[in-house]
Amino acid sequence: MADNGPKTGPAPGDRTVIGITFGNSNSSIAYTVDDKAEVIANEDGDRQIPTILSYVDGEEYYGQQAKAFLVRNPSNTVAYFRDFLGKEFKSIDPTHNHASAHPQESGETVAFTVKDKEGEEETPSTLSVSEVSARYLRRLVGSASDYLGKKVTSAVVTVPTNFNDKQKAALTAAAAAADLEILQFISEPVAAVLAYDARPEAQIADKIVVVAELGGTRSDVAVVASRGGLYTVLATVHDYEYAGVALDKVLMDHFAKEFLKKNSGAADPRENARSLAKLRFESEATKKALSLGTNASFSVESLSAGIDFASTINRLRYETIARSVFEGFNRLVESAVKKAGLDVLDVDEVILSGGTSHTPRIAANVSHIFPQTTRILSPSTETTAINPSELQARGAALQASLIQEYDAEDINQSTHAAVTTVPHITNAIGVISLSESGEEVFVPIVPPETAVPARRTVLVAAPKDGGDVLVKIVEGNTHIKVTKPEPKTKENGSKAAKVEDAGDSDDDSDFSDDDDDDEEKREKVWKIGATLAEAALRGVKKGGKVEVTINVNADRSVMVTTREVGGKGGVRGTVSA
Ligand code: ATP
Repeated sequence: MADNGPKTGPAPGDRTVIGITFGNSNSSIAYTVDDKAEVIANEDGDRQIPTILSYVDGEEYYGQQAKAFLVRNPSNTVAYFRDFLGKEFKSIDPTHNHASAHPQESGETVAFTVKDKEGEEETPSTLSVSEVSARYLRRLVGSASDYLGKKVTSAVVTVPTNFNDKQKAALTAAAAAADLEILQFISEPVAAVLAYDARPEAQIADKIVVVAELGGTRSDVAVVASRGGLYTVLATVHDYEYAGVALDKVLMDHFAKEFLKKNSGAADPRENARSLAKLRFESEATKKALSLGTNASFSVESLSAGIDFASTINRLRYETIARSVFEGFNRLVESAVKKAGLDVLDVDEVILSGGTSHTPRIAANVSHIFPQTTRILSPSTETTAINPSELQARGAALQASLIQEYDAEDINQSTHAAVTTVPHITNAIGVISLSESGEEVFVPIVPPETAVPARRTVLVAAPKDGGDVLVKIVEGNTHIKVTKPEPKTKENGSKAAKVEDAGDSDDDSDFSDDDDDDEEKREKVWKIGATLAEAALRGVKKGGKVEVTINVNADRSVMVTTREVGGKGGVRGTVSA
């Protein structure tokens, strides 16, 4: 197995640590002060720092300044390279590199050729993706060091859940070349959950969380079980089609067509590299503006053949033309829940993370998948939501401050993104109780998907007048009870006809915010499964209580202890896995 951490690094007491998220589109740096994580702005004032390097006359630019050079100096600008680390040329997807330095094969790895030295006659350099990453990380860490006023030595870095050991080893080596110790990698969804759970007002309850990490070039959705402070990744879905650049493309096509309509005979701005770069840059800015306001402008000087172009778009129009992309995000979320073997009713929270998660329509659509009881954490659905662009770096910074005191060796052994392999139980374990109508109902004590070993204790009330208490420990699983509504007569025509009538006028939106009134009712109900143990406690006092403790061991065997609160003795038994 590849080594995920350097063997040597600063002694724990000499470290200055930060959290880093190093994305294909943007990166961020954060640090923790008084248990609170803060994202650091670089010298340009940016907290989302484009993962781009550009070389002009031997000078290196990074971040937003480098991004601006995608218009005037694309061939010496390197962008969208993070996912190439630790990969062979034949396995990469260069789709996003058409408008900047092109990736090429270089031995076992991927490289870019750029003129990074001064003077026309200088021969261009071929830089491996590791070298590019090292140079970029050096700039990132430099900004953090300048801000903190001391040299940053170490970091926790977030990575997607499907980043393999080879990719991690390549990133570790690139960081080491930039004089940065990677203390630990944490998976992006866990970083997002950590950032939320670290808030002082957070209640650390057992919960199922869906984290939708929607970035520029990829979307990664994970279903995470949070049980007693332990996180288990139950399922993940990765997609490279539905992400921020797909939304940029929708707007680029929209404005290009409008430009051509207004300027008949002009060249299509999508057919000239420089015009295309301008179109892309401004479309992205318009898209971001539409997350905040209901109208946004688009304006480019000399878009094509020297013609300036200015226009506006409203949010409803945008939501209509981008509808198929938005629907793609919903499908990803639904498929992740399904892959985890869960129902949407099992999901307590949805965290929308990544830049694209600022989009109000995405949050609204995702909220329609889930019942009203599911919290949707995004800026447009919860006023107290954390900025989705900052979640990753914050989670990483919190983790960095937690582990900075440990030796690199210990961190390596104790952690990993191994959350995914932690054993967990599938069914819930609980007791049977009698409902008011005398029916047997299941009361969960250890929820399903709990990482083991685990221990939970509950108190069960004895019968009013005391006496013998029989405690039955059983497995429970949920099923979804569907209640069909009474058929209603419709007033005028079907919904489908209504949508058609709306045509494609500017103000139509096919997404109806009001869910159908006559939707069937779905609820989660417990089903009693296999009996694991029975314990009889004789002569429990009037009004007494029985304490039931369930220990699930690492091999999934279960030990149950029951005793009367305040009484003597008790019953204990073990059920093997
Ligand atoms: P990836 O690795 O998938 O390329 P990333 O994690 O590096 O992405 P993020 O900063 O999370 O990058 O996401 C970048 C995307 O988010 C870009 O497409 C950007 O246009 C989009 N974005 C940023 N802010 C907003 C906003 N306010 N509204 C809508 N989209 C936004």
